[in-house]
Amino acid sequence: MFDPIYFKSQFPLFDHSENQSLVYLDNAATTQKPQCVIDAIVDFYTKANGNANRSSHRLARVATNLLEKARLQAAEFIGAESKNTIVFTSGATESLNIIANGFRDKLSSGDEIILSLVEHHANIVPWQEVCHSSNAKLVFAEINLNNVKSLVNKKTKIISVTAASNALGLVTDLNSLREIKKQYPDIIIVLDGSQLVAHKPVDIKSWPCDFFVCSAHKFYGPTGVGLLYGRESLLSCLLPLKFGGEMIDNVELHKSYYVTGPERFEGGTSPLSAIAALSACFDFWSKQDRAQMVQYENLLTGYLYEKINKLCDKYPEIYLVGDKKSNIGIATLASNQYSMADIGFWLDEENIAVRVGNHCAQPLFRSLNVRSVLRISLAAYNTREDIDKCVSSFEGFLRENSQPYLLPKEKGYFDVSLLDYRELYGLNNWQHRYKKIMQWGSLLPSRPRLRSEENLVVGCESFLWLSGEKKEGKYYFWVDSDSAVVKGLAAVILCRVFGEKKETILAIDFQQYFLDLGLEKHLSQSRVNGVNAILKSVFDYAER
Ligand code: PLP
Repeated sequence: MFDPIYFKSQFPLFDHSENQSLVYLDNAATTQKPQCVIDAIVDFYTKANGNANRSSHRLARVATNLLEKARLQAAEFIGAESKNTIVFTSGATESLNIIANGFRDKLSSGDEIILSLVEHHANIVPWQEVCHSSNAKLVFAEINLNNVKSLVNKKTKIISVTAASNALGLVTDLNSLREIKKQYPDIIIVLDGSQLVAHKPVDIKSWPCDFFVCSAHKFYGPTGVGLLYGRESLLSCLLPLKFGGEMIDNVELHKSYYVTGPERFEGGTSPLSAIAALSACFDFWSKQDRAQMVQYENLLTGYLYEKINKLCDKYPEIYLVGDKKSNIGIATLASNQYSMADIGFWLDEENIAVRVGNHCAQPLFRSLNVRSVLRISLAAYNTREDIDKCVSSFEGFLRENSQPYLLPKEKGYFDVSLLDYRELYGLNNWQHRYKKIMQWGSLLPSRPRLRSEENLVVGCESFLWLSGEKKEGKYYFWVDSDSAVVKGLAAVILCRVFGEKKETILAIDFQQYFLDLGLEKHLSQSRVNGVNAILKSVFDYAER
């Protein structure tokens, strides 16, 4: 039986005093690293640091051997036919850019490239760029490739799709690709395995694909390194993306010749310490019983969906986007009533890490008419207890926020002029201040007319629109946002400056103000960026 507790004990981050109560459910963004992967980075620099494929000394040989050992391990890990099919890149994004760019000179006007609606931006934008310069056309298949066969025709040159969706967790059914490959062997098939690798074994030899990409950091490996698998015959004729040392066969003054092996795409010094850590990661994987891990993760995914379904039954304002069938352990939630940013902030306050936003899958969520979602993504070190804590905290938010805040009768219409920041000082802990900020955000009326491009404050986590006006030397401000927290944070700033003169506004020490409110340590970097963007807008108005 797979033992998640023993598995988790190998990941030192969870033992650190700051993380002992952490519930980490953002594994689709990045996974944590086992001790052996972390050690390998230190070992490389303390014992073996030399540059690979250069110099003739011992350390250079050690580094070269390490690089080639990792290449062989990578080939075995994904079931590739030879290590000559494995290119080290900085990650899936670079791998996809290399492939797309490599086909730039092989595509012409009218050629078609099929992607699917669920693709990560990393598997859309590079192809868009290539289409701009080659006049080839992008065609989009439905989620899970339901209609892909009907889109294929003589003009189809490439199909590039995800093997599992980062936004919904759905594993792509490879059968339709198999049939397409049988009927049209010349169509190039690219699989983005970024999300799949940590959850299901890969066997490239039996899969219908010519290229496969992934990032080590998504399967317990280090950041900074990823894989690009390509059939040897195809790799040798793709144009490289980077030019320089290592990738050349011969350099003349006005022309150079490139090697045909994987080094063709590895110009410059490779990220050797990350590759050393990746090698340790493959060793780590070789000690796991994959069948048992898959079985455990499937059970855990079933439990996650059971709990979330119950929550959705109780609170119909939230709903699941996606399905538990063929799922790598991702549950994605949306709501027409609540801002997912607010719920993400609430969970973060309880040390539960999830992801909120559009998950680099804007076309997908636009097609589903969903603006922002909250994603819970599992890894093998998660347990039922993690899921229970997350769902119970989520429910806590829904319970606390189920009643609309009622305005005191005498106040009637509400705007920031009615807020008094001194009320925040009177509250003795952060939870109470947070609730007050949420309350302020909810009280401020929606202002659809404010929602224009020119009022959009760029840098905020959720959309925020801000407008100001100067009357008789004093400044007045209005805001709108879908997120009560974001609107509330804007209100914390605006209630200090509303109706004030320029000199007063410019003299306020906002850093001290946030320190006094105890806000600083509760703001993530993206919220700090948002707060700074609001302050900048306010100061810009005051300077006018
Ligand atoms: N493809 C998918 C499906 C992903 O989920 C991601 C990252 O989230 C990427 C590509 C890009 O990976 P990276 O940022 O590691 O290059």
